[in-house]
Amino acid sequence: MIDIKNLTIEKASVMLQNKEITSVDLVSACLENIKEKNGELNALLEVFGDVLDQAKKADEMIASGNKGKLVGIPMVIKDNILINGRKVSASSKMLENYVASYDAYVIKKLRDAGVVFMGRANMDEFAMGSSTENSAYGPTKNPYDTSRVPGGSSGGSAVAVASGMCIVSLGTDTGGSIRQPASFCGIVGMKPSYGGVSRSGTMAMSSSLDQIGPLTKNAEDAKIIFDYISGKDEMDSTSIQLPNSIESKKVIGIPRNWLKEGIDTDVMQNFEEQIEKLKKLGYETKDIDLPYSKYSLAVYYILMPAEVSTNLSRLDGVRYGLRKEGETMFDSFKKSRSLGFGLETRRRIILGTYVLSHGYYDAYYNKAWKVRHAIEKEYENIFKEVDFVFTPTAPTTAFRFGEKKDPLQMYLSDIFTVPANIAGIPSISIPTGFSKDGLPYGIQAMAPLYKDQSLFEVAKDIEKNI
Ligand code: GLN
Repeated sequence: MIDIKNLTIEKASVMLQNKEITSVDLVSACLENIKEKNGELNALLEVFGDVLDQAKKADEMIASGNKGKLVGIPMVIKDNILINGRKVSASSKMLENYVASYDAYVIKKLRDAGVVFMGRANMDEFAMGSSTENSAYGPTKNPYDTSRVPGGSSGGSAVAVASGMCIVSLGTDTGGSIRQPASFCGIVGMKPSYGGVSRSGTMAMSSSLDQIGPLTKNAEDAKIIFDYISGKDEMDSTSIQLPNSIESKKVIGIPRNWLKEGIDTDVMQNFEEQIEKLKKLGYETKDIDLPYSKYSLAVYYILMPAEVSTNLSRLDGVRYGLRKEGETMFDSFKKSRSLGFGLETRRRIILGTYVLSHGYYDAYYNKAWKVRHAIEKEYENIFKEVDFVFTPTAPTTAFRFGEKKDPLQMYLSDIFTVPANIAGIPSISIPTGFSKDGLPYGIQAMAPLYKDQSLFEVAKDIEKNI
């Protein structure tokens, strides 16, 4: 039986091209793992009925000489990325039976590359959360300890990779939703520069922060996927073609002022060990000060809900989504939205509507934008002194279900990941071993805007050390 859990695209594609295995073999092995584990882990909301047919087609592509690295590779897709003709619900009751009417840009690219789409990954409703507990279809469990969360919102995508239900997956990251679950599940997760990957065909949570990115077993696989899905797309005016040049970068900035409170001691110890190992590989480190970064979460929880309230206003039971008839039109909206949305989604819509309302707009929304610009500038300046900024990906390892009932406690899980979204810069989480309880650690590297390629290089150096 093929060991999907430890199989990378790099290895699988060589085996496929050498005809040692077929895509049908790979997909069958994934299906076995899904059958065995998904009942408990709940990583996938749906396994597509035609996966073996897709795999046969990929095998034909290989037989007729297609040498692409992704042909025949089984991939899982987060349930907020549109695949034409298939259900896509954003793990919400609101869109339970919604069927996509077109392919997202990234799906088109991957389809042309011969990828096999295995199924839809569970997530926090509309990508709001850090634990996948906000899914309308039940939480996803962490494969390293099923009493613990896998992180979120792309928890299903992370668990699918970590438990061998696919080789790689796609997630989305608005404030950490790729990197934090990658860290909790011991895999690599990458958030591209804002605009690096087209958002066309992704359900918008917070349009000025959202990015699609890969969850993989190593940095090389993340690069392979990134190289396929990045680029300029006419359907997303914010998308751009990123430079492909790789420069050798060696100075790591460590924001000591920011790494003081609220981090578990063992997480910090693991972080320091990794930094020491990088020094041995020739990296220099420099303590830096990022005074505005500590306001990132506050800025995020004003700008993000404002955009959420706007983006989700179309889900009213008339244009899209679940409909519950009321006595008046307003009553119908109210009933449909109250039934369709979960607690966290409603909380954010209300918060967002509040900060955008007349009288509060200047005090909250406008002020938050000003601080966002200050944070962007802060990173622009710091990257004149250093090549990367490093932090632990999250302040803790995977926490227990129900442990963070207070929403503010939950929001703190993203303290280190949110700034990259606020500043639009690229960032990657790389696994760095296990705690004594067997829970994965992760380290985060951030790079200057549009220097996505240098992240893969530093990530590979970290991998050399583990
Ligand atoms: N956990 C963060 C939130 O709850 C980030 C979500 C995301 O990146 N989609 O908003």
